[in-house]
Amino acid sequence: MSGMARPITVVGTPVLRTPCRPVERFDEELATLVEDMFASMYEAKGVGLAANQIGVDLRVFVYDCPDGDDVHQKGVVVNPTLVLPGAGERNLDTGDEGCLSIPGPRAVVGRPDLATCHGFDVTGAPVTVHGTGVLARCLQHETDHLDGLLYIDRLSNAARKAVLKEFEEIRGPQA
Ligand SMILES: [Zn+2]
Repeated sequence: MSGMARPITVVGTPVLRTPCRPVERFDEELATLVEDMFASMYEAKGVGLAANQIGVDLRVFVYDCPDGDDVHQKGVVVNPTLVLPGAGERNLDTGDEGCLSIPGPRAVVGRPDLATCHGFDVTGAPVTVHGTGVLARCLQHETDHLDGLLYIDRLSNAARKAVLKEFEEIRGPQA
């Protein structure tokens, strides 16, 4: 892996709150971005990373995490479209969740335990990722990022405040 780790943007940075633009060119620049995203994710010890988490407002995410059978799945999805089971067919997974852009705290977030993501690989070939287990959660979390959402948006007010308070305490005073 030849990518270069870039700084991770944290909550409060506008690029995390802006819906990202679709990728239009599957070129060398995109390939470099994806390599850098993998390097940034591994350096931060994350299981997924969206492009706006390194300050780039393009619809791309990478992941490397276990599925429901505990098999590691790794990949990239460009211009993802998320498909969730219908309202009557959902099983809620109530695992806890954290985010590299809100380092420190974790919180329980209910999400469907199955998710499918359609999109493209770095060359522009269509890909479909079927997610179970942590991967199902990851696909939803990363697609949220590209829509300008964070997992704290899915928490109650009290839980959101607790996460942000813990994050601020860990981070300490900013210059
Ligand atoms: Zn995140």
